[in-house]
Amino acid sequence: MSIALHPLIDNGLPAESPDFAGGTLVCACSERPVRVRVEGPVAHNHACGCTKCWKPEGAMFSIVAVAPSDKVSVLENGDKLEVVDETALIRRHRCTGCGVHLYGPVERAHPFQGLSFVHPERFDTPGWMRPAFAAFVSSVIEAGVPPDQMDAVRTRLREVGLEPYDCLSPALMDYIATWTVQHREPAPQAA
Ligand SMILES: [Zn+2]
Ligand SMILES: [Zn+2]
Repeated sequence: MSIALHPLIDNGLPAESPDFAGGTLVCACSERPVRVRVEGPVAHNHACGCTKCWKPEGAMFSIVAVAPSDKVSVLENGDKLEVVDETALIRRHRCTGCGVHLYGPVERAHPFQGLSFVHPERFDTPGWMRPAFAAFVSSVIEAGVPPDQMDAVRTRLREVGLEPYDCLSPALMDYIATWTVQHREPAPQAA
C-alpha cells in the first residue's frame, strides 16, 4: 500500500538552500491573491498531522514552520483574510477566497508567543528549510486515517527522513485519538 503524506514529501524532500533569506507567501487565488512577506529564514519546519493546520487537498500532513511575528507582514489583499478560530492559541489567518492559511501568530502568554506559524510551500521562491520531523502523527486518525494504518504511516515517514513524534508513546497517542473519534459528536453536514 502506498501512503501519500504530502505532495512535497512523497517524492523526496524539497531542496533547501542556506542562502534562503525569506520570501513571499502567496495564497491559491488566481485573482487578488493574498501576499505575506516573511523577512529571513523560517525555523522548526516539520510535517504536522494535526487537524488544524492547512494542508493541500489529499495531503495527510501539513508542512509548517515558524518565523518571528515581527518579521511577518501582509503585503497585498489582507482584506481577504479572516481568523479561523479566535479562541485557538494560534490565530490562523485564512484566505476567505481559497482557504489557504497565510500566517498564524501566537499572541497570548505561551512558550510560542511572538512566533507565527507559516506554510513554507506557499513561498513563491524555493530553498526554504526542508521539514525535519513529523509531529502530532497520531492526530491523522482524527482526520480519518484508519488506526490500523498507523504503523505504515510511521514507517513511511521514517523512509522519507521524518522521524515521527507524539506526546506519549505512539500506541498511547493512537489510543487517545481513536477514543476522540469514537466520542465525538456527529459533525453537522456541510452545506
Ligand atoms: Zn486566496
Ligand atoms: Zn498542525
